[in-house]
Amino acid sequence: MTQRVALVTGASSGIGRATAELLAKNDYYVFAMARRSYRLEQIRSDNIEPICLDVTDAEAIQEAVNHALASKGRIDLLVNNAGYGQLGAIECVSMEAAHQQFEVNVFGYARFIQAVVPHMRAQKSGCIINITSILGKISIPGFGWYAASKHAVEALSETLRGEVMKFGIKVVLIAPGLIKTEFAAKELKLLKTVAHPPAYLKLLTALPRLLAGEPQAPGPEIIAKAVLDAATASFPPIRHALPAESKTAVVSRWLLGGRIFDWAVRLKMRI
Ligand code: NAP
Repeated sequence: MTQRVALVTGASSGIGRATAELLAKNDYYVFAMARRSYRLEQIRSDNIEPICLDVTDAEAIQEAVNHALASKGRIDLLVNNAGYGQLGAIECVSMEAAHQQFEVNVFGYARFIQAVVPHMRAQKSGCIINITSILGKISIPGFGWYAASKHAVEALSETLRGEVMKFGIKVVLIAPGLIKTEFAAKELKLLKTVAHPPAYLKLLTALPRLLAGEPQAPGPEIIAKAVLDAATASFPPIRHALPAESKTAVVSRWLLGGRIFDWAVRLKMRI
């Protein structure tokens, strides 16, 4: 049987790294991508080939896709995962930082989609898994720009699914809740770069408190397993939210309605 070929973005740490490793153990040949080459080299193996790139660089993405096709002749799976969270009140995050959030989290995914779909369409098969977030369907104070980028990923994925289904291409959203990776620490570091007036003091103390649960959160392996299951299923779920709170948060928002949900969130955050 021909070995299946996967592209995994954001593979230098966290969910992407765990996914690249799990796919490689399950007979995929994985092109593992991120900016930090020394981190990618740590996972190089017979089935994992690192490619150092920035997802904002369209030319580098096209080169990587061309290289994968030239060396393996096919691409069966794209896992769009590279991303980060720009924390800060909507009013205070600079437009440059907001644009960059979308450049990476939304257009980074879109660039890969546009680069691989023509080949998957010609091959009449393929699977695109977009990693979104619990904040792809709801949002909470302080996470506005990040949540907006993930809501955009959800809308793009829904649309794409309808457009490419008839070409044999599956599109799956995987929506993690809080997962133990480098993500929360990077969010808090970025938050410090945003100037907030004193009126936001309560929000600024609430955000680290909220993310303090990260050490007790599940590891990235549970998301990697969900990716592998979706990639290998004949009928994968359209949207898989996990762990459980990622599902219940969306259901609570729907059951409680906007106003009561907002109140409950502000009560929990103490803002
Ligand atoms: P992570 O450990 O910080 O990993 C993020 C990955 O994205 C790294 O490999 C990073 O690699 C890569 N990346 C960031 N910017 C990039 C760029 N411009 N070009 C190329 N690669 C870039 O965080 P994670 O938790 O695994 O996050 C993975 C995905 O899960 C993200 O889309 C995130 O939104 C989503 N998610 C995470 C959580 C959570 O609680 N952890 C919850 C919901 C959703 P380099 O820095 O080496 O480039």
